[in-house]
Amino acid sequence: MENNQLYEILTKAIDEKHIYSELTDSYKALGSEYKPEYIVYAQNTEEIAKLVKLANEHEFAIYPIGSGSMFAKGVDRLQKGIILSTKDLNKVMEYRPHNLSIEVEAGMTTKDLQEYLEKDNLFYPMDTDENSTIGGQIASNRYGENRYIYKSARFYVLGLEFVSPEGEIVQVGGRTVKNVTGYDISQLLAGSWGNFGIITKATLKIKPRPEKNLTLTFNSYDLTEIKKIVIALFREKISLATINIYNKEQRYYLTVKLEGFSETIRHQAELLRRKYELYKITGNIIDASSYKGMIALSLENIIEGIEVLENLATKYQKYLSFKGNLTNGIIEFEISKSPERYLQNLATILKSLEGTLIYDDKVLVKPSRGTGYGMLLQRIKDKVDPNSVLIPQSKALRGNLL
Ligand SMILES: Cc1cc2nc3c(=O)[nH]c(=O)nc-3n(C[C@H](O)[C@H](O)[C@H](O)COP(=O)(O)OP(=O)(O)OC[C@H]3O[C@@H](n4cnc5c(N)ncnc54)[C@H](O)[C@@H]3O)c2cc1C
Repeated sequence: MENNQLYEILTKAIDEKHIYSELTDSYKALGSEYKPEYIVYAQNTEEIAKLVKLANEHEFAIYPIGSGSMFAKGVDRLQKGIILSTKDLNKVMEYRPHNLSIEVEAGMTTKDLQEYLEKDNLFYPMDTDENSTIGGQIASNRYGENRYIYKSARFYVLGLEFVSPEGEIVQVGGRTVKNVTGYDISQLLAGSWGNFGIITKATLKIKPRPEKNLTLTFNSYDLTEIKKIVIALFREKISLATINIYNKEQRYYLTVKLEGFSETIRHQAELLRRKYELYKITGNIIDASSYKGMIALSLENIIEGIEVLENLATKYQKYLSFKGNLTNGIIEFEISKSPERYLQNLATILKSLEGTLIYDDKVLVKPSRGTGYGMLLQRIKDKVDPNSVLIPQSKALRGNLL
């Protein structure tokens, strides 16, 4: 199809002033690899439904996007087609504080949602990137630093409105915690990376803000000592939110976050000080660096994972820095240049521990689920999106995403 033909088709669903032929400023960071034929900003669900029907009829691809922070992780490369931004869908539809629920449009950012809820001392517990959209977060089933207590985005979905890959507007779930007696279709969308529908609205569970957060720290030159403390902490009767570990100048820093009622947290902090010499943090221990490498392991193997990273760094004389969330089982790391042999060895060891290794956005090792999982997902995709309109070549269908 000629480019101007596609433009004519798009104008049947979207006002010209919301159609762009270049990546807009919000998405410039995606780079030329992800430059679509057009980028459109939908203004409502009906427009999206119309657009998807047109895409089926005229055979062009649609790539939904929120803030775009994870877009390249879910999408291999762009085939001919359009990027559909939800950024203008950013309204609160219905707020029911006494029901602890809120319905928002999919393009609302986490930051705007938190600010909206703050006045009533409520919050949405997904403390991920504040610019991420609710739709993008649900579609990629994100989780925050405190995943140990708050789980991931899918657990906060009470109901969804979405546009199916053939253009029907579908509403699933509801506004109460007990609202689904049949199959919960919203969970097919959560973590689907946009493959099974374009989320347009979400009704979310929200929570009262915890009265107190407190982070305690301990440091040591000895990883074995840290390991003993971590094992013991998992058995303590404490309101544990997160345990993190960092390395800095030969030392290991453990940070332990507690969350709950002030009085309880005060008592627990005192207990941890006496038993493990954990002290309240003053100032920042580590900056928010980004890391190229990431390993994921079961909690029982996570410290062993750190030992492996370190032993290999010594063997190959590499400088290693890492930051691990011991309550999530994820360690991010950075090693000095020429990492090939280091990564090869790491991959072999992680395979035996049934772990995952991602480096530079490439999945080098992942636990084997057999071929059944990918084949079943692909069959569902073929049925619900027979013309392969939504995100053709999605990485998510190959089970490559964390
Ligand atoms: C500083 C920073 C900190 C972060 N911290 C964390 C963290 O602690 N934990 C964590 O898990 N993540 C974290 N992230 C990742 C971030 O949370 C996700 O990138 C984000 O939630 C995805 O939202 P988005 O709007 O950017 O989605 P996008 O990147 O735009 O999209 C993600 C995927 O969902 C699809 N999609 C987007 N919107 C829709 C929709 N409405 N309907 C259907 N499909 C859609 C897209 O096609 C794509 O496949 C962090 C990112 C940054 C930049």
